[in-house]
Amino acid sequence: MIVYGPNFRYLKPSEQPEYVPGPSESELAEIRYAERRKERREQLKAELLADPNHEKHGTGYAYNCGCRCEKCKQARSDYMRVRAKRNGLL
Ligand SMILES: [Zn+2]
Repeated sequence: MIVYGPNFRYLKPSEQPEYVPGPSESELAEIRYAERRKERREQLKAELLADPNHEKHGTGYAYNCGCRCEKCKQARSDYMRVRAKRNGLL
């Protein structure tokens, strides 16, 4: 005898299993892209911490990667000042 799963059409609405859709293909691609960017940021942070003369020091990207050396903090501060001015906050 072949036993199939329950026929959900004959279940009361409260007994029907909830359908939870997973992420779509484009959402999956976005998730994978964000993960790859995060890995690259973490790798660059490790490189920046290991090498104080790394060419990326003093850039906003290095600050975003987590470097908090003086040059990167200065770059961030300069950028935030320009942005505040542009937005009419200064
Ligand atoms: Zn730095």
